[in-house]
Order: sequence, then structure tokens, then C-alpha cells
Amino acid sequence: LEPTVPVSPAAHQPSQVRIALVLPQLVGGYGDRGNAVVLVQRLRWRGIGCELVEVTGATPVPSDCDVYVVGGAEGGGQLTAARRLRADPGLSRAVARGATVLAVCAGFQLLGTGFAGPDGTMHPGAGLFDAVTRPMPRRAMGEVVVDPAPGLGIRAITGYENHAGATRLGPAAGPLGRVVTGVGNGVDDVEGAVQGRLVGTYLHGPVLARNPDLADLLLGWATGHRLAPLVLEEIEALRHERLRHRPVTT
Ligand code: GLN
Repeated sequence: LEPTVPVSPAAHQPSQVRIALVLPQLVGGYGDRGNAVVLVQRLRWRGIGCELVEVTGATPVPSDCDVYVVGGAEGGGQLTAARRLRADPGLSRAVARGATVLAVCAGFQLLGTGFAGPDGTMHPGAGLFDAVTRPMPRRAMGEVVVDPAPGLGIRAITGYENHAGATRLGPAAGPLGRVVTGVGNGVDDVEGAVQGRLVGTYLHGPVLARNPDLADLLLGWATGHRLAPLVLEEIEALRHERLRHRPVTT
């Protein structure tokens, strides 16, 4: 897939953007590593240097990356990842310096203050989001359309959800958007969370492949630059298809 609009590099290039893919073996289900690939590729297409840093095994989480991507998971991977990230100060140090984070589903849940494990038992989270996840009476599965929080300045978000946890946001976190179709957080008709430069969402897809506006919002935060537009006709056509018959504008 190549962009159909030629893109010239921005006038002021950030030197090298570091994208960390956090514990993909533990929380990397549903193709969520694609989010890191999308970020890297959108930077490369614009001529911006970047590096993908894969945080695996017992390697400490580096605190000097610009964007951190955490994915979803079923079962024990989420609990192990939560233990790892509670014990390792790398990610919270990065957040304290203003790093950008995208956390999907299990990743979103475990970065909250507490979350329900596979058997419904509550576990402490890494505490980066002001959010608590408890078991939901019925698993949420299917396509989701979200009307993003107006301040984000992005178009409708689409994705696929598959989760058994319902997430209640505390006062420090705002929703990523309002649910138009689907379940999302399962509380207050909202989806995901935005807290500073942290974005949490239930949407797989991968969500950044389906929603280039969201990818560029994160890259804008991470680089401190307004990035040149980058339109991929194939992605636009897919968006149009997914949003057809939905009561939102594309
Ligand atoms: N296991 C968690 C839940 O069901 C997260 C699922 C996921 O990451 N898709 O809520």
C-alpha cells in the first residue's frame, strides 16, 4: 500500500522518533502490533526517521521512547504484563516526561488502577489511567463506531471489540469518544480514555490502520509537529464502507 498523494518532508524534522512496542508476546493479540507498524510507516512515508523498539522478555522498558504501544490479550498474558509494568518504572517515567501512549483493550485495562482478570478476580494495574475495569455481565463483541471527543479534531473512529471488562473512568481521564455503534467501555456510553498524551481504547483493527487520523494525532503529540497530510485512497475507501449506513459523517 503506497500513499497516492506525494508527501514532502516537513520543514522541521524531529531527528529520530522512537516507537516502543511493549511486551507483544504477552499483550499483542488481535494483530495489535500493527499499530506500531502503522506509526513507523506513516513517519517513513513522510521522510521522518524512526526506530521500532521491541520490548520483550525480561528487558526493562526503556524510558526514552517517544511513543509506547500496548496491545490486547486474553488469559494470563494480561496478568503477567501487569505485574511486569507495575515492577518496572520505565513506562511511568516516560509518561512523566510527556511520552505518548496507545493502549488497546487488555493493555488499556492493565494501565488503569485496577482490572478484572480472566476469572473475574480484581488485580492492581499500573495506575497510569484513572480507570477501573470490572467484569461485564455479557461479553462485548463486534464492530464499533465512535464519535471522537470534539477537542481531538479527528473523524469518526471505527474498530472491532472483543472483551469482557467494563471500564469506569475517574475524573482525571476523559473519554476517547461517544459510542455510536457497539459497547466500548460499557459505562456511560463512552469508549476509551484520553489522559494527557495517553490514549486507551477497546478497539482492535488494528485501530491505527483503520483510523489514520488517530495515528497522526499520536504522531503529532510525539513529534511536537503538525505533520503533512497523508491520504491513502484504499484506507479512505474502507472507512467509507465501514461507516456506510452509520449515523455519523465520514
Ligand atoms: N481479556 C480482557 C477482556 O476480556 C481483554 C480482552 C482483549 O484484549 N481483547 O476484557
